[in-house]
Amino acid sequence: MATTGVTEDLNLHHITRQQFDRAVPFADNLHGWRGIAEWLFEPEHIMEVTLPVLLDDGFVHMFRGYRVLHSAIRGPGKGGVRFHPDAGVDEVKALAAWMSWKCALVDVPFGGAKGGIVCDTHRLSIGEQERLTRRFTASLGDTIGPHTDIPAPDLYTNAQTMAWMYDTYSMMHPGAANLPVVTGKPVELGGLAARDGATARGAFYVTEHFLAIGGLAGIDSLDGLRVVIQGFGSAGRHAAQLFRDAGALIVAVSDSRGGIHDPAGLNVRDAGRFKDESGTVVGYPGAEAVPSKGVLEIPCDILIPAAIENQITSRNAGRIDTRLVVEAANGPTTPAADDILADRGIKLIPDILANAGGVVVSYFEWAQNIENQQWDDADVVEKLRKKMRRSTEVVITRRASLAEGLESYQEAWTNATGSDEPIPKPDLRTAAQVVAIQRCRTAALQRGVWP
Ligand code: GLU
Repeated sequence: MATTGVTEDLNLHHITRQQFDRAVPFADNLHGWRGIAEWLFEPEHIMEVTLPVLLDDGFVHMFRGYRVLHSAIRGPGKGGVRFHPDAGVDEVKALAAWMSWKCALVDVPFGGAKGGIVCDTHRLSIGEQERLTRRFTASLGDTIGPHTDIPAPDLYTNAQTMAWMYDTYSMMHPGAANLPVVTGKPVELGGLAARDGATARGAFYVTEHFLAIGGLAGIDSLDGLRVVIQGFGSAGRHAAQLFRDAGALIVAVSDSRGGIHDPAGLNVRDAGRFKDESGTVVGYPGAEAVPSKGVLEIPCDILIPAAIENQITSRNAGRIDTRLVVEAANGPTTPAADDILADRGIKLIPDILANAGGVVVSYFEWAQNIENQQWDDADVVEKLRKKMRRSTEVVITRRASLAEGLESYQEAWTNATGSDEPIPKPDLRTAAQVVAIQRCRTAALQRGVWP
């Protein structure tokens, strides 16, 4: 087990492999079928594109973009496109794999995919972002499509980005019903109002239900709980409001420039208005300033990392002062940190469950577009709530049954592999991955290997 201060491998693709390997001994029949495990883990298709874009300075600048289809076993690829300086092929491969597990876990009929462009949107004008988006969409060509791979927003992309992607794809495919090629579109262009904020809403429903069914001893509601949120983008900001409305105290929030802390609870709406005006929460009057990563260590009952990957690592996991971590971001906690948190009795609701609300509503938008219908927003929110609650129960039940059967899983693993190495105690992440991987395996076996 890693200890505080030990350097660990932060390559996200390697991290997804470690998480997968932890789940394999618990995924019945998978370890007897080593080849199937590899089939499920390896990405199906990796595309790298070079994007020349004319910037406002009159020069052509070169950008790099990626789209990875991790798995289409359960349906067309689904997953966001992020604009971020750290986007790289290993990061996009990892995010695509998490999408496969996420879609399988919440049972929407998609595989997993992800895209990214290496860029800093703070340095690009709106016109430059539009030209970059259009060039990327054109370069992807028929790699994306309503029945092959369906992008959506992610870090630093939004409904406007999806409108440009839709328009570009549509110009290239005239006369076809192209609306379902991307989700997270503006409402006026076939989007759903509930998509904005759906990730946060999903995390909220999962947490609320987790507490209601006894996930945290002695606590059954959010009322009066202290919540810290790292990230004040789409997921973090909506989460702050939802948890506040349910009676929790939001004691700290942060964005990429820094954080603010008020043990008596922040006025979330006001802090949001402050950010709209000044571009950051830093400097919000009446709150103590803290470094962006420092918010993670502020004492609280629920910690919600809602920013980027690798935030809770072996370096700071020993100082996290909370009872429950709810991963609204993708991949915020490393495997070594998972172990440290578990040893310290801190529970963690994993990303593929906690942040799946986004893709669930994306599925509703896609289905609405395929049917040429307009779904009622209240119905969509209710359907989301049901799906998140059901998925929470599935994960909790599975963790309990894995823990109960630990000895027999160990025996089967030792027999199959000849290794005496103890298999790790199953946590909620492993349980969620086991459910997801088994669903993918079942679909793979039902389809068979072609030819
Ligand atoms: N980017 C979001 C995620 O990581 C949503 C993906 C989607 O809606 O397709 O889950």
